[in-house]
Amino acid sequence: MKEFEGKTVIVTGASRGIGWAIAKKFAENGANLALVARNKELLDKRVAELEQLGVEAVAFPADVSDFERVSQVVNHVVERFGHIDVLVNNAGITRDRLIIRMSEDDWDSVISINLKGVFNFSKAVVRQMMKQRKGVIVNISSIIGIIGNAGQTNYAASKAGIIAFTKSLAKEVGARNIRVVAVAPGFIETDMTAALPNEIRQEYAKRIPLGRFGKPDDVAELVLFLASERASYITGHVFVVDGGMT
Ligand code: NAP
Repeated sequence: MKEFEGKTVIVTGASRGIGWAIAKKFAENGANLALVARNKELLDKRVAELEQLGVEAVAFPADVSDFERVSQVVNHVVERFGHIDVLVNNAGITRDRLIIRMSEDDWDSVISINLKGVFNFSKAVVRQMMKQRKGVIVNISSIIGIIGNAGQTNYAASKAGIIAFTKSLAKEVGARNIRVVAVAPGFIETDMTAALPNEIRQEYAKRIPLGRFGKPDDVAELVLFLASERASYITGHVFVVDGGMT
């Protein structure tokens, strides 16, 4: 029997990059998936790819910053699958600018999607996990939330917020057998880092002891371990996967 057979996993930001690698790896290990992102066409394509692996997958087009919509999505997931075993809060964006050029909208968008999105989904899912007296929430933070980075005050604040949120929620819900952990990736090859100018990418790569950007699967492996029974005594911590950079 596969490790996640019969389990229901919600992944936000599941259509591309790290989120897609996570969703696919859960499906390869037998889980049924609820996929969340804004672009419905791409999500539908991803659902078809997961169905090829013999699991159930459903697309839930949604903006994670929309409180009402998120609550609706979680209700639909429960109606469809009956339970929620794992939530992976992965959806995130960057709006990099030095603070003197950063607009109110740059700040608000990043905080709403990256941080409030984690609150929205966690709040909706915790209600269900408390009834089940079981569940795991994995929040995707970033090493930038630990070490900081010029031009990313909004992003760094959102990712540091996720770490503090994780530690606090783990203390709140541990007695209900719900684990909450965070993963802090370094530089990973996705659309997000492809947007960086080439010379900046090369500069960052020089600061990574393993000498290269990570792959989405490097993050997915850690997420699956943390979500599994093999990690049943781990909660409230943040795990770095960064090729040694920090
Ligand atoms: P990506 O390739 O840009 O993919 C982002 C995903 O999130 C897409 O599926 C996107 O789909 C979805 N998304 C964005 N805004 C959303 C919203 N408002 N509501 C719902 N879904 C939304 O990013 P990535 O590099 O895979 O990053 C994934 C996570 O890892 C992010 O939280 C990021 O901060 C974190 N991270 C990435 C790196 C890295 O080097 N790549 C390093 C550390 C941490 P739609 O656009 O269709 O909504």
